[in-house]
Amino acid sequence: MELRDLSIQELHEKLAGKKISAVELAQEFIAHIKKTDGEICAYLDYHFDVALTEAKEVDDRIAQGDRIALLAGIPCAIKDNMLMKDTRTTAGSKILAPYVASYDAYAVERLRQERAVFLGKTNMDEFAMGSSTENSAFQKTKNPVDTMRVPGGSSGGSAAAVASRQAVFALGSDTGGSIRQPASFCGIVGLKPTYGAVSRSGLMAMASSLDQIGPFAKSVQDVETVFEVIKGKDPKDMTSVHFPQEAPLKKLKGLNVGVPKEYFIEGMEKGVTEAVKKSIAAMERAGAHIIPISLPHTKYAIAVYYIIMPAEVSSNLARYDGIRFGYSTHHLTDGDTDLAAVYDRSRSEGLGKEVKRRVMLGTYVLSAGYYDAYYKKAQQVRTKITEDFTRAFTQVDLIATPTSPTVAFTFGAKTKDPLSMYLADVFTVPVNLAGVPALSMPCGLSEGLPVGLQLIGPWFGERTLCSVGKEIEEALK
Ligand code: GLN
Repeated sequence: MELRDLSIQELHEKLAGKKISAVELAQEFIAHIKKTDGEICAYLDYHFDVALTEAKEVDDRIAQGDRIALLAGIPCAIKDNMLMKDTRTTAGSKILAPYVASYDAYAVERLRQERAVFLGKTNMDEFAMGSSTENSAFQKTKNPVDTMRVPGGSSGGSAAAVASRQAVFALGSDTGGSIRQPASFCGIVGLKPTYGAVSRSGLMAMASSLDQIGPFAKSVQDVETVFEVIKGKDPKDMTSVHFPQEAPLKKLKGLNVGVPKEYFIEGMEKGVTEAVKKSIAAMERAGAHIIPISLPHTKYAIAVYYIIMPAEVSSNLARYDGIRFGYSTHHLTDGDTDLAAVYDRSRSEGLGKEVKRRVMLGTYVLSAGYYDAYYKKAQQVRTKITEDFTRAFTQVDLIATPTSPTVAFTFGAKTKDPLSMYLADVFTVPVNLAGVPALSMPCGLSEGLPVGLQLIGPWFGERTLCSVGKEIEEALK
């Protein structure tokens, strides 16, 4: 087995036992990135020199006889919408191309305290808007499983980096599926934590009532290890909370697993349905009770999400005005005599098509006369969607669904029709609207491409999600 295929625990044992050094491990990953990333294009920036220094510090500590943390010396990658002090942070946008962060995001800071090694920043859809990473202003990331296909999005770079063994784990953000869907497309594991479980301080806000940071890795155990480090209360994000002690850990045996009929719909890929149903059958064989349930407001989730999210986007992105951060227009003419012209031109030149579309949709649904009809109505239906989950979790311990109705699609397949791209989010957005946690894990193949199983838990049910996820991994082996 290659070093790059090992788990966090296995690598930790090798490092702590001085079988390998952290510098050697970093070099191994750097060499592999140099060999493969010309094709995959997972990274926007490489931080190799700093990574080697970080690794050297871990080696020094080991040499001094210090005990090291589980993540110490473990090479990782960070989505480019999370700030890392003194390095470029673009969120995949031209408007932030020259922007250098002045502090670390909380999640990054936590990993730094553990002495993880940062290999670089990963590609993403501009400001995390998209499901294929094709909306990046800089490059197209390829799916390592099949390079003719997209890696999913918006955290496509992070997913592709882990899937191609260019990092042991990576961080992503999930506003409507951006961790789970790329994890599913690339055949790896991704966790969208409970809203509030991980601080968003230093995450470039997309839609603040939906955004969450979470990990990608090859296994459920690795994802859980990283989550344990990044979770928790941070005074700089008032929505973050002390993670509550969870009720006793549940196992598959005797577990009530809900299967919502609204997540097995017409038009889904047959191979996806089959792979997910097979893994549900495996759960049943392991002693789980499979219970058909209904989440009746699921059918409104896409419509609700594509009103609330752009409303918040339009407000959050107002700060990119050509004055305070990043790019400013060089094209002012004599007729441009006021500040509005700077805003206007900088934003027209600096923001991409999809971002502009959402800013316009957002300002529209918030405008006087339309607010009640769109934004307020959407918030009311959002409550109904949340109530669906509240009700379901009085009956079941967790919910099993497909992560995405299809496997990874080919480049360009959905770029001409934004609506078809939005529909790809049908099984992931209800989770963000309700704020519950969900795990996506590989559960088989459809025509040779990875299918993701989505396990949805009640608020702060991450431990059970991960423990059950590990059992399913075993059962599917
Ligand atoms: N694909 C969804 C969108 O385009 C989700 C994005 C995300 O989770 N950041 O909005």
